[in-house]
Amino acid sequence: MTTTISSKNIIGKMIPFLELGLDKKLLDEIEKQINTVVKSGNYILGPQLANFEKKFAKFTGVKHAVGVASGTDAIRLALRALGIGRGDRVLTVSATSPFTVIAILEEGVVPIFADIDEATLTLDVDDAERRVDKQSFSANKQSFSPNKQSFSANKKIKAVVPVHIYGNPCDMPRILAFAKKHKIAVIEDACQAHGAQLEGKRVGSFGECGAFSFYPTKNLGALGDGGMVTTSNLGIYNMIKSLRHGGQTKRFWHKYRGVNSRLDEIQAAILAIKLRKLDSFNKKRVILAERYKKNLGGLPIKFQQSYPTAKPVYHLFVIRTKKRNALMRYLAQKGIASYIYYPYPVHRQPAFGDFYDARKSLPVTDRISGEILALPLSPNLTFRNQDKIIRETTRFFRRS
Ligand SMILES: *Cc1c(COP(=O)(O)O)cnc(C)c1O
Repeated sequence: MTTTISSKNIIGKMIPFLELGLDKKLLDEIEKQINTVVKSGNYILGPQLANFEKKFAKFTGVKHAVGVASGTDAIRLALRALGIGRGDRVLTVSATSPFTVIAILEEGVVPIFADIDEATLTLDVDDAERRVDKQSFSANKQSFSPNKQSFSANKKIKAVVPVHIYGNPCDMPRILAFAKKHKIAVIEDACQAHGAQLEGKRVGSFGECGAFSFYPTKNLGALGDGGMVTTSNLGIYNMIKSLRHGGQTKRFWHKYRGVNSRLDEIQAAILAIKLRKLDSFNKKRVILAERYKKNLGGLPIKFQQSYPTAKPVYHLFVIRTKKRNALMRYLAQKGIASYIYYPYPVHRQPAFGDFYDARKSLPVTDRISGEILALPLSPNLTFRNQDKIIRETTRFFRRS
């Protein structure tokens, strides 16, 4: 046999961006639980979900949690439960997952984008304040396109949706003060920040509602889709419980116009098992992030900063460099996967541009989208592989 370096070998050596594999013990436990659910014959709105909701509420430090079908639906149903709908406006950021904005648009609500703080990459509250003051905003009235569903932004800003991006807590004390001053609600997009803390409290417990995603790659991931709304308000809790189940308040009686968005029993059972490991998984992420910072500190790159009382959970480890594209290519040549989250700011995309007023630019959001790069980081990343990533990243900057 001849020894050739096939592409298979190269791929085999590749350091993946993310490794989702579960260890044997956890896998065994999950398989056992799946079997239990399968045999129970109870697949929707049963005891597994009730148990997981209780545990997740306790973990997050809120009174209630409601399992839904996705993080997108969690944001959506939080808006609906708060009575925010067609024509209302909601402040959020453009430097986020497009799904934050998709959730807002699904409710007929008009997103108003504020810029982000350059250091933390989270909502810039000063800029949010400026956007509230200016009454000149109006959604572009242009010719028909499937992306425009006759939105008229004629109503007031009703809520702010700060995003704990990459697992980094927003400045919640200032955001809460801002919301109080303007009498608007706070819905935290905590889809990337399960377990992150600020001032000793978990994110998702600061606002009226917190929205979580259990998309498989998230810090707490299902083996499919899933989401959760957290709240300490009993009225909101009851409303979301009804809304996720078609708006029923009793069997076959629909008091509200709801949706079909439930977290199923199998996913809830899996998530309850994985929740017990979440803090230790997050701890591993923090250790890896600190190792990156310590070893890459001398290079011409910037790290995402956190507020002094914050304990981020590094959903992603994002660096910033002017040589982003070259670094990404270089790392790929060395068998290291890296990705851009997110390459296109939401307001620059055809589906969302209608809601962006060019007069109110988002300079930080635009600038960082050309500089950000996420290096591999997941609880399964070995120090050995991380050392290689550190070595190659250092080599890239030293030679260029
Ligand atoms: C993942 C994510 C969402 C959407 O969650 P899904 O479960 O995929 O619907 C929303 N916002 C942010 C910031 C996310 O990372």
